[in-house]
Amino acid sequence: MLPVLALVGRPNVGKSTLFNRLTRTRDALVADFPGLTRDRKYGQANVADHQFIVVDTGGITGDEEGIDALMAGQSLQAIEEADAVFFLVDARAGLTVADEAIAMHLRKQDKKVFLVANKTDGIDADSAVGEFYKMALGEVYQIAAAHGKGVRSLIEKAFDDFDIVQPEPEPEEHDFSELDLEQLDAIEEAEIAEQEQAFADMPIKLAIIGRPNVGKSTLTNRILGEERVIVYDAPGTTRDSIYIPMQRDDQEYVLIDTAGVRRRKKVYETVEKFSVIKTLKAIEDANVVMLIIDARENISDQDLSLLGYTLNAGRSLIVVVNKWDGIDSEVKDRVKSELDRRLGFIDFARVHFISALHGTGVGHLFESVQEAYTSATKRVSTSMLTRIMQMAAEDHQPPMVKGRRVKLRYAHAGGYNPPRLIVHGNQVSALPDSYKRYLMNYFRKSLNLMGTPIRVEFKEGE
Ligand code: GDP
Ligand code: GDP
Repeated sequence: MLPVLALVGRPNVGKSTLFNRLTRTRDALVADFPGLTRDRKYGQANVADHQFIVVDTGGITGDEEGIDALMAGQSLQAIEEADAVFFLVDARAGLTVADEAIAMHLRKQDKKVFLVANKTDGIDADSAVGEFYKMALGEVYQIAAAHGKGVRSLIEKAFDDFDIVQPEPEPEEHDFSELDLEQLDAIEEAEIAEQEQAFADMPIKLAIIGRPNVGKSTLTNRILGEERVIVYDAPGTTRDSIYIPMQRDDQEYVLIDTAGVRRRKKVYETVEKFSVIKTLKAIEDANVVMLIIDARENISDQDLSLLGYTLNAGRSLIVVVNKWDGIDSEVKDRVKSELDRRLGFIDFARVHFISALHGTGVGHLFESVQEAYTSATKRVSTSMLTRIMQMAAEDHQPPMVKGRRVKLRYAHAGGYNPPRLIVHGNQVSALPDSYKRYLMNYFRKSLNLMGTPIRVEFKEGE
C-alpha cells in the first residue's frame, strides 16, 4: 500500500508548487481526458523511485480564529490519516505567528513531521532558516519547490524514515538491439503463458467507491448476501478499507469495501466519515474500480474527482448508476444524457444501471469486472504488438516532423494494470498528440481492451 504524505502550511508558502512538482513526474498518460475537473489536492507521486500519495491540505490558514476551527474537515482528517507530514514554511517571510500555531498543533499529534523551508533560492538560506529551529520540530530541510532544489533529497530522507518496502520497478524484459520477431516469439511464448496463469490464479481486487449515501453498503451487502464469503474478518483502522474475500463462478475476488459494512453492523453504529484518502488507497490497491453514482442526484464534482483519480491511477473502471428503481422514464433519459455529456469522453468504461436495493442488474456487474480484469492483465507478445503498430502506420502514415517522416520501429508490452505499450522509433517523441491518440485507439480496438485505460509511451531508438 502506498504511503501518504500530507503537505501542511499557511497559504502562500508554496504547497501547491511543491505538490505540482511531486506529482508531475507521473508516467505520461497519452489521453489526457479533456473536460475532467480533477481534484488537484490529491495526487500520486513518483520521486527518486519512491511512490506515494501526496495530499495538499490547502484549508489551513492558522489565523487568529483558532487553529482547531480552521483545521476542521478534510484537512484535519488528511493529517490524521497521513503517514508523514511536510510542514512548509517560507524562508523569505521568516517565522510567523501562523507558523507557530500550526507547529503547536502538529506537536500534539503523534505524527512524523518534516519541517521544510521553501523559497531558499537566491537568498542566504542558512541564516534565513535559523529561526525556524525555535519551533522545536527538528531538522529544517531547505528546498526551492519552484526550481526543484532540495526536493529529491527531502523525499529520500523522508523515505529513509518511513521504513517502507517499495514495489520493485518492472525490469525491461528483453534486449531489442537486434530485432528478430520470430526469435522473440519463441522466447516470450512460455513467459506469457506463465504470467497469464499467474493472473488467473490471483483474486480480482474490486473496490467499491463513491460518495456517501450512493448505496455502497447496500451493494456490498447484496453481493455478499448472494455469494459465499470465504473469510470475513479483517479488522481495519479508520483510514483503511475492509478487505472481504469472496468467490463467484469459480473466480476469487477480494472486495475492497470503503463503506465499512462490517463496522456498521456493530452495536455502536457510527456514521462513517467520508475519507478521500481511504478511497484513494482503495483505488490504488484495486484491479478494478466500481464507481457508484446515485441516479437521483446530479453528477457532482466529487464524482468527477473520484473518476479522475481512478483514471490517473490507471485502474479499470466500471460506472454503476444505482437507485435505478422507482424513477420514471423521463428521469432516466435525463440521467443518461447527463452521463453522456459529462462522462462521454471515457469511452472504454462500461456503464451499468442497477438497483442495489432490489438486486436488479447486480449479477451483470461481474461480467464487466471479468472483462476489465482480463483486458487490464492481458499479455501480448512483441511480434503481435509490432504487427498491429505496422498496420496502424499503413492505414494512416505518421506525419513528417522537420522534413523527415517519423518512423515507428517496434512495440512491446511494458506492464499491466493498466496495460503499458511502448513504441520505439525515430523522432517518436515529436509525434503530435492526435497521432498518439490514434495509435492508442488502434491498439485498443485491435486487442479488444474494454474497461481499462491504456498507456502508450514512446521511446527514441535506432
Ligand atoms: P500555497 O498557497 O502554499 O499552495 O503556495 P503556492 O504554491 O501557490 O505558492 C505561493 C507563491 O510562492 C507563488 O507565487 C509561487 O510562485 C511562489 N513560490 C513557490 N515556491 C517557490 C520557490 O521555491 N521559490 C520562490 N522564489 N518562490 C516560490
Ligand atoms: P453508502 O453510504 O454509499 O454506503 O450508502 P448506503 O448503502 O448506506 O445507502 C444509502 C441510502 O440509499 C440507504 O437509505 C439505502 O437504503 C438507499 N439505497 C441504496 N441503494 C438503493 C437502491 O438501489 N434504490 C433505492 N431506492 N435506494 C437505495
